[in-house]
Amino acid sequence: MINETMKNYGQNRSVIRDLFEFGLQKKAEIGEENVYDFSLGNPNVASPRAVNETIIELLNTRDDMYLHGYTSAQGDAKCRQAIVDDLNKRFDTSFKKENIYVTCGAAASLKIVLTALHAPCDEVIAFTPYFPEYKVFAETTGARLVEVPSDMDSFQIDFAKLEPAITPRTKAVIVNSPNNPSGVVYTEETIQRLATLLSAKEQEFGHAIYLITDEPYRELVYDGIKVPFVTKYYRDTIVCYSYSKSLALPGERLGYILVPGEITDSSDIYAAVCGAGRALGYVCAPSLMQHVIERCTGMVSDIEEYREKRDLLFNALTEYGFTCIHPDGAFYLFVKSPEPDANAFSLKAREYNLLLVPADSFGTPGFVRIAYCVSTDMIKRSLPAFKKLAESYK
Ligand code: PLP
Repeated sequence: MINETMKNYGQNRSVIRDLFEFGLQKKAEIGEENVYDFSLGNPNVASPRAVNETIIELLNTRDDMYLHGYTSAQGDAKCRQAIVDDLNKRFDTSFKKENIYVTCGAAASLKIVLTALHAPCDEVIAFTPYFPEYKVFAETTGARLVEVPSDMDSFQIDFAKLEPAITPRTKAVIVNSPNNPSGVVYTEETIQRLATLLSAKEQEFGHAIYLITDEPYRELVYDGIKVPFVTKYYRDTIVCYSYSKSLALPGERLGYILVPGEITDSSDIYAAVCGAGRALGYVCAPSLMQHVIERCTGMVSDIEEYREKRDLLFNALTEYGFTCIHPDGAFYLFVKSPEPDANAFSLKAREYNLLLVPADSFGTPGFVRIAYCVSTDMIKRSLPAFKKLAESYK
């Protein structure tokens, strides 16, 4: 006997991965330059130079044990100190290194936090559209993922839909801003209203409702927009962060969990986070990268490059007649399918060698996601194909 649930996760790969694999095959057939692959959120803007220089300097100056040995399970102390120093400087907070647990990226942060928090039959709320792995991570802890639709015009939280979805079983709510796949950033008003509602529900039900903020895109915002730092608005906030996008290091697997000292049962939760990391077999996050983060936390890849790509694509697609959500952050463009079935639209787009992800698995049918973290040259070359695709619907 094997684990059927795991077999299913392994066999039914994500739509995004499938499209990516299709792209590889197509590139081999007709040449890489003729396939416009917008499937994966793999950042193409370079890491800040200091990151690579730091890696080289570390390799040239430090011994192997320091570079490649195990660190403490919760992360190297200097790395954790550097992370809180940066947070405290930027957000005027007073976190301690004891509030940080270093992880292998946001996916690990989320899985560990959900494992630490959830008892079977608990409910965790996510707003559609959401990162599809939330469902996998929640359900494999025995919790139920409750989907709450966002406001379909602004893609902010629809409070009329959220309120009745919060029940005595609600253990946590996940927010992701800037959002994958809509690119929307929650306003301060949204965060304030959310905090007020959750505080009232905590009172009503007599137990904590944790707000898990999934923030791999925190620094990737345009036009001076500010991302509210959620711990300042709602006490029971747990932050899941990743350097995958801000430092363009997704393959290096580095992120952290912040468990503020003020949250309900903080020390028990931190202990459960350590326990979950242990039970899930993480051991510790990559050592070399922890030493890099100690020296580079707070740096960000060139956001202007992403903004140029966003403007290029948003302006062109809007001109061709597509309805696009204006992204204030992250590097995704969320586009309304011109026919009701976004899967059919995505298949049609393939005829023009455009790889667009149907958003059904994000919980929002009728849309596709375009990951514009690709070369500007490819975006420019893809525009005639988008134009033809738009014309095919006229
Ligand atoms: N959360 C969101 C919203 C994401 O978009 C991603 C990756 O694309 C992740 C989590 C996982 O990120 P990581 O590579 O840090 O595990």
